Amino acid sequence: MAEAFFVYSPDYYCDIGAHVFPTVKFARVREALRRDGEIPEERFLLPEPAARADLELAHSPAYLDDLFSLRRTPRTARSELPLTEPIVRAYALAAGGTLLAARRALRSGLAANLGGGFHHAFADRAEGFCYINDLAVALRRLLADGAIRRAAVVDLDVHQGNGTAAIFRDDPAVFTFSMHQENNYPAKERSTLDVGLEDRTGDAEYLDRLNAHLPAILDDFRPDLVLYVAGVDVFAEDVLGGLALTLEGIGERDRCVVGHCARRGIPLAATLAGGYAARLEDTVSAHRDLCRILWDTACGEE
Ligand SMILES: [Zn+2]
Repeated sequence: MAEAFFVYSPDYYCDIGAHVFPTVKFARVREALRRDGEIPEERFLLPEPAARADLELAHSPAYLDDLFSLRRTPRTARSELPLTEPIVRAYALAAGGTLLAARRALRSGLAANLGGGFHHAFADRAEGFCYINDLAVALRRLLADGAIRRAAVVDLDVHQGNGTAAIFRDDPAVFTFSMHQENNYPAKERSTLDVGLEDRTGDAEYLDRLNAHLPAILDDFRPDLVLYVAGVDVFAEDVLGGLALTLEGIGERDRCVVGHCARRGIPLAATLAGGYAARLEDTVSAHRDLCRILWDTACGEE
């Protein structure tokens, strides 16, 4: 029987000024779970920032030098965020959080980082709202340690996981699956499998497409771990997304991913990734629902 753990730090919050990315959402998701009262406090784990040696498994030393020196260079300039010490620290912490969640999932079956999913960061440069690719850092560390032989990234954020795809393009140990809105940011890289969806794709077709691919990926590639990039910017009322899922549809999506992994005994660690709903409470509620699905699955209620 699986057990579910949740990784969170108050320092995931960082001040990025007036911005479409609501960094306050991490704390709001944590508060919502505390209010629910269902998940005991001891299931919440506090991460450490990823060590430089871990970061270097996924990022070039030149880029990390620019980043931690807060230098605006071509390597850091494609970020759409300010470059400050607390922000860089928050991204290193999120990477440590995804690594902790992944390690926990390998022991207990299910875990979520209440942050992370920064899939637009490349090995040698920032992009979008992403400075450090926490997914790549976590997987490279676990592969280097021999904790896993292969892993799959299931990226269902509305935007393609371009940084993750590029980092693992020549790495047969990692299967990158990205299902996203085709006609949206970013410039696409080649994942192991890309599924580009039409604008305004709704619940039924989305779930059909997901169910057409995910079981085969898990059965054929047989990953030792799934990292789930559970962006909720697929929501119909997302400001940056152009798909048309309902909150119920997002819940079905999350149950589908968690269920397919749980039934096969494949450990799953989730990250929150994107979510820019017109109403912040919709973003928070969708992320909270994922955590409750993990909890309910571990409790055998699914
Ligand atoms: Zn996104």
